[in-house]
Amino acid sequence: MIKPIKKYFGAWSDDYFPDGLNIYDYIDPNWDVTDINEIMNYITSARLVIVTPYPDFCPICRKAVSPGWRSDGTWLWTAAIDHLILSHKVKPPEELISHIRSVAYTPQDLFDLHALDWPFAIPK
Ligand SMILES: [Zn+2]
Repeated sequence: MIKPIKKYFGAWSDDYFPDGLNIYDYIDPNWDVTDINEIMNYITSARLVIVTPYPDFCPICRKAVSPGWRSDGTWLWTAAIDHLILSHKVKPPEELISHIRSVAYTPQDLFDLHALDWPFAIPK
């Protein structure tokens, strides 16, 4: 069954993707939750669904970060999200955090990769 993924986080606005999100809109130095370890474990252990053959760099500090994208079948997010959270206080959307809690911090791993409906063009 086709289950398009329409929820994504981490396609930042740049020269190649001007319609992307502005990362600075997501910085929240006051974000403080008691289940940060569970959230971090979830977002760094969900399946890596895109591995890019080129390096990726943090849009804030330009440090080399994990390239690619992870997904749990519902959401799609940048594999660099751990760096963004820990180094820059980037806060994922509340809807993503609520979703992680709703599945008891356990990523779903049974979904059809071919059913992914990419929200943006993959650079060649
Ligand atoms: Zn950085």
